Amino acid sequence: EIIASKEKKMAKIRVVVRKRPLSKKEISRKEGDIISVDDNAHIVIQEPKLKVDLTAYVEKHQFRFDAVLDENATTDEVYSVTVEPIVPAIFQRGKVTCFAFGQTGSGKTFTMQPLPLKASEDIFRLLRQTNYRNQNLKLWLSYFEIYCGKLFDLLNDRRQLCMREDGRQQVRIVGLQEYEVSDMQIVEELIQKGNSARVTGSTGANDESSRSHAILQLTIKDQDDVNDAKRNSKKSVSKGGMLVGKISFIDLAGTERGADSIDSDRIKSTEGAEIKTSLLALKECIRALDNDQVHIPFRGSKLTEVLRDSFVGNSRTVMIACISPSTGSCEPTLNTLRYADRFK
Ligand code: ADP
Ligand code: MG
Repeated sequence: EIIASKEKKMAKIRVVVRKRPLSKKEISRKEGDIISVDDNAHIVIQEPKLKVDLTAYVEKHQFRFDAVLDENATTDEVYSVTVEPIVPAIFQRGKVTCFAFGQTGSGKTFTMQPLPLKASEDIFRLLRQTNYRNQNLKLWLSYFEIYCGKLFDLLNDRRQLCMREDGRQQVRIVGLQEYEVSDMQIVEELIQKGNSARVTGSTGANDESSRSHAILQLTIKDQDDVNDAKRNSKKSVSKGGMLVGKISFIDLAGTERGADSIDSDRIKSTEGAEIKTSLLALKECIRALDNDQVHIPFRGSKLTEVLRDSFVGNSRTVMIACISPSTGSCEPTLNTLRYADRFK
């Protein structure tokens, strides 16, 4: 179910929380559900605590977001409250970004995976509409990963990529493979291919994919505007014509390694430090964006540098905070909600 905030505003940045159901493992450990949602998208989290004299009590923490998706939310509901409203903006020179964040195991990948597919369906449908039919607009797809501050192409044998700024301060990822996609079948194949190229490891909290940011981009280009594209860029230009709009889906690294984790002081590895830096930098950029600041501090991390052109102009962002409802995840869940709360 979607529980939407009664304040109806179509802000540049929206924050949506998705609560997943208790897992079989959590149920077998007899863990409880500590997350409740009221009908105005208020989230209450009940933190079990022990006083010094060992009597148990519950501390309540309250948050409010643009919408909350409870454990019964369907993929269609997730899509309709997050990405669907902002897809049309990419036909109006818009840069649209959807982030999923939360601790490892909170449902980021589960939430994110279907969204580019559903968005592609909508984009193909819009491309067939009369107002676009006589323009030569094409859809392009790319998929890469940021791991330990380095970029890897998930659709080209994990080839390492580098980033360059052109004269117009546009970010180019040199060598990134972009595929023109004309139907759902090819979109599905490419996404499958990219998913299986992510850093490997799939079990438990040590899941390697929890240490990387995966970025899938769908770009609309005007093929008739090739001259313009040539004029504005150097040789390393991506194929196709002039950029019309772009939507990015970002499955962020697990926040337990990130900015607001109480463990963050103990993180020593460069990997952990990089994730921490990028999540902090992201927060700063999004807040600057929301305040209509002229200066967006995108240089704070590789992640925000890569996303630089999505932070300017006609940009729309939706942040999906993924949380586990279990007693055992209380602390990381609180961290995720606090991180999300700062975007407001
Ligand atoms: P993350 O990417 O944040 O580490 P995952 O998306 O891999 O987490 O989810 C962890 C586990 O929980 C997976 O087995 C996934 O299938 C399951 N899961 C996550 N969200 C849901 C949901 N809303 N409903 C059912 N199962 C879910
Ligand atoms: Mg994941």
